[in-house]
Amino acid sequence: MPSPVARRPLETLPKAHLHLHFTGSMRHGTLLELAARDGIHLPESLVADWPPRLSAADEKGWFRFQRLYDVARSVLRTPDDVRRLLREAAEDDAVDGGRWLEIQVDPSGYAARFDGITAFTELVLDAAAEATHLTGVPVAVVVAANRTRHPMDARTLARLAGQYAGRGVVGFGLSNDERRGTTADFAPAFRIAERAGLALVPHGGELLGAASVRTCLDVLHADRLGHGVRVVEDPALLARVAEAGVALEVCPTSNVSLGVHPDLSSVPLPELLEAGVAVALGADDPLLFGSRLAAQYATMRAAHDLDDATLAELGRMSLRAARMPETLRSVLLGEVDAWLAAPPPDA
Ligand SMILES: [Zn+2]
Repeated sequence: MPSPVARRPLETLPKAHLHLHFTGSMRHGTLLELAARDGIHLPESLVADWPPRLSAADEKGWFRFQRLYDVARSVLRTPDDVRRLLREAAEDDAVDGGRWLEIQVDPSGYAARFDGITAFTELVLDAAAEATHLTGVPVAVVVAANRTRHPMDARTLARLAGQYAGRGVVGFGLSNDERRGTTADFAPAFRIAERAGLALVPHGGELLGAASVRTCLDVLHADRLGHGVRVVEDPALLARVAEAGVALEVCPTSNVSLGVHPDLSSVPLPELLEAGVAVALGADDPLLFGSRLAAQYATMRAAHDLDDATLAELGRMSLRAARMPETLRSVLLGEVDAWLAAPPPDA
């Protein structure tokens, strides 16, 4: 039985953050400050009406979401801006009990301003190392291709990601509107990343249903899935995902903001856990959805009346699904046990 009484602070639960986008991780205050510095006009939904009301129920809604993303991208103009973004993302995760961060970046979105995808990737890796040093939260990078661009671009990015495998890049992803492009066309890019030993972490099962999850498994050989929540629509596939140990990067606030689920209590976390699926909660794009890492655990605790043992298991699952060194993983898993073993503050 879930206990409504035990309430250990979620900010001290050790966890790994496996679904956070580079641009979308920006602090709202940083967006305002950088926009003011360069005289960039921001739409009201990113100023007085922040966080914006979004929906991805149709292509128009998704287009609006992407437009806001483009605006956010446009305020990052100097290498110092990039360093600041990564440092602040790591600082914010540190406050939330994040002990390992895998941040997704699509270098092609910044290539024009930062001397090409290779130079930009090197800048991001250097900034990630600096953020790691300054905050104590290790920051690893997932290079993500954009499915609305040509699959040839994805292959170029996969080769680039492979060059930095073991030097800061830990994974290869595929993002943007699932309803656009053909997932199978990206298989050659994923083969390149697979040969380089990277974690394969495409988005799937968010805007499209279970069939999209199946394609990510069969064709892209996904090790984890960005979102993947709609796998619950197909019980056989749900069992397969559990059996295969493919972790889902579930982002509750994102799902509700974009209309994937009508409200937090409809995010099918209990069904996933019941089926034995590994879940790592993530914030996706705090800049657009208005909440960060620990808030994902807090909203799920509130919406589904999760007890602290379940929350500890969510922390453990995020650590197990991360591409972190085994020595660090065993230390952090021990810290989760200690978190749960300690009595709650008001006990
Ligand atoms: Zn995402």
